[in-house]
Amino acid sequence: MADRFAEGARVGVLTAERLDRVLDYLAPEGGCGTGDFVEVPLGPRRVLGVVWGAGEGGFDAARLRSVARVLDAAPMRDELRAFLERAADYTLTPLSAMLRLATRAPGLGDAPSMQKIYRRGAGLPGRMTEPRARVIELLEGYGGLAFTLGELAGEAGVSPTVVKGLVASGAVLEEDTPRDRPYPRLDPARPGLALEGDQAAAAARLCAGVAGGGYGTTLLKGVTGSGKTEVYLEAVAECLRKGRQALVLLPEIALTAEFLARVERRFGARPAEWHSGVTMVERRRLWRMVGRGEAQLVVGARSALFLPFRDLGLIVVDEEHDSSYKQEEGALYNARDMAVLRATLASAQVVLASATPSLESWANAEAGKYARLDLSARFGPAELPEMATIDMRAEDVPAGRWISPRLQRAVAARLAAGRQSLLFLNRRGYAPVTVCRACGHMIGCDHCDARMVEHRFLKRLVCHQCGETKPIPETCPSCGAADKLAPVGPGVERLAEETAALFPGARVAVLSSDLFTTARALKAQIEAIAGGEADIIIGTQLVAKGHNFPLLTLVGVIDADLGLQGSDLRAAERTFQLMRQVAGRAGRGAEQGVALLQTFQPEHPVIRAILTGDEEGFWRAEAAERRAAGMPPYGRLAGIILSAPEARAAFDLGTHLARNDAALRRIGAQLYGPAPAPIARIRGRHRVRLLVKAAKGAPLQAAIRDWLAPVKLPAQVRLAVDIDPQSFF
Ligand code: ADP
Ligand code: ZN
Repeated sequence: MADRFAEGARVGVLTAERLDRVLDYLAPEGGCGTGDFVEVPLGPRRVLGVVWGAGEGGFDAARLRSVARVLDAAPMRDELRAFLERAADYTLTPLSAMLRLATRAPGLGDAPSMQKIYRRGAGLPGRMTEPRARVIELLEGYGGLAFTLGELAGEAGVSPTVVKGLVASGAVLEEDTPRDRPYPRLDPARPGLALEGDQAAAAARLCAGVAGGGYGTTLLKGVTGSGKTEVYLEAVAECLRKGRQALVLLPEIALTAEFLARVERRFGARPAEWHSGVTMVERRRLWRMVGRGEAQLVVGARSALFLPFRDLGLIVVDEEHDSSYKQEEGALYNARDMAVLRATLASAQVVLASATPSLESWANAEAGKYARLDLSARFGPAELPEMATIDMRAEDVPAGRWISPRLQRAVAARLAAGRQSLLFLNRRGYAPVTVCRACGHMIGCDHCDARMVEHRFLKRLVCHQCGETKPIPETCPSCGAADKLAPVGPGVERLAEETAALFPGARVAVLSSDLFTTARALKAQIEAIAGGEADIIIGTQLVAKGHNFPLLTLVGVIDADLGLQGSDLRAAERTFQLMRQVAGRAGRGAEQGVALLQTFQPEHPVIRAILTGDEEGFWRAEAAERRAAGMPPYGRLAGIILSAPEARAAFDLGTHLARNDAALRRIGAQLYGPAPAPIARIRGRHRVRLLVKAAKGAPLQAAIRDWLAPVKLPAQVRLAVDIDPQSFF
């Protein structure tokens, strides 16, 4: 039972404002209870908050203000409050920042009411204008979703009168709907596919876990196409049968119409969707319905983890190894780890699904902390691709070209057979470096320590760190020589040029995140390609993620050595995962696929492991190295990033921190740095890193809190703590 506070009693309210404190207020008329969403006066404004418990009492009672009103929303449950607290403690993030993540929907306090919504009608207006066409295109692009007037006009960049004009002509429908309709019921009793062998066994184990009603985490490992999705949908069905809610997390880009349609086929209705492409109307509706238990299944991106579920029974983290689960800005959390935390508090099951698990999850399974289920074979006739290296030392590749004669022949054979080929290169743009052939100058970003990357489609140079762009100069900015600037190295755009020259007449499609302005446009392109609208696909790591291209039977990896060069802790692991994933794109239909890896070091252990498919061998070797070095997951790391407009200020604070590290030494932790970050300047701010390394069981967060508590940040300096860092830039 939540605590109740009578009118006038002192309550502590956590607001989503940037103050990391629970503030005291007086309970309003009618009282309020712990977990209630409230509006409170703060200075001249009214802000959203949650009653966190009894007030502290330190503040002068005469000056206390009252809670303005209690909102008409399901109170935040103890489970979610505990989750936000624990997540804030773990990530050393202010609790208010966690509350912001949990209240990312507009108008949470508005009373239920009717509203006008707009969706695509039939036909076209008598007179078509450019703005009208934009509205229609937008509505069609969102496939049946409804918008409010403001949202529709805003997104289309037109005035509301344009929309009203379209309503008059019938091309757009205006409807009254209650805000926040419940979602259609999903029916778990509908039969799924008949599962085979280890699929059936895995599904039975997951269902038993869900039926038990307690916490548990299972690593579900199986190659792409082995039926992982099919199996975890059975666990979802069991969860729904129990009357509890389920959450499926996907990397944002894998949230395709294909997946939603699959859920619909299985359960007879679409799940609720939560990601950056969802309209505000839908967000608010989902947030409220989830809190009332009227959204049974949410399919979402990482932030869906912070929704106010009424009774969460299952969290699936699909593609659990995906680095996009780590939020790299603001609150630095890893959704995979936070899913496990939330599940322990909610007595829920977690399924971590992957073809190439993270070393963390692999090790947790080895240690018995997670259960592990393996799906061995691909379902049905589809086979894993045959893999081979192309030894680039023996191939005759002209300067400025990257496709070896052997790869070229393989692509030509697919073209002749009416099949698709994928050429994979994890480098956006035309060329990674632009160099002056007269003086050797390389064009860099003015704000970052990074080279500018030529993007020929945009006709600009782009900094991949800060996004700064500038026109491609005609003369060298250093020596002034004209017409001497030359691209060096390949990017996907340049590879597309080479491909078009080698295979005139072939339809070449480039899949690179920067070529699409919206996630939806990108998804549409992916679906078109899956439908056969390209012969050769040129892609960055974007293509490695869960898409199904049935006609694809050849994958050519242009530079398999690219990921091996990094000094990053996870370079080998990432390369291994990426190559396996990319190779898994080939032959998902009925035909055997082939993956060819161009490499200058075919004997490299990672390349060998990819080829032989000895995954357990790879993990064991990688685990042994990390254990010997005391590195995660066998030790713990935390990054401290200091940044300031002047390098000096960041360094001074870093040096001060390094000299006053007694709190860290008390737990036996080591401190490295301060050192300039690998990218020592981003957006004009100089960056300095420190790295804390501790033994696995050490109370790392508490020590860091003690260490940083006495620090007064100089005005211009920012400090961010990154627990379990994934990237070290
Ligand atoms: P994964 O999630 O491991 O990539 P999926 O669950 O998407 O694998 O399965 C791959 C394909 O095989 C899908 O089209 C799926 O519908 C099909 N499939 C998997 N298992 C079965 C089954 N038992 N019966 C029929 N089709 C299946
Ligand atoms: Zn830059």
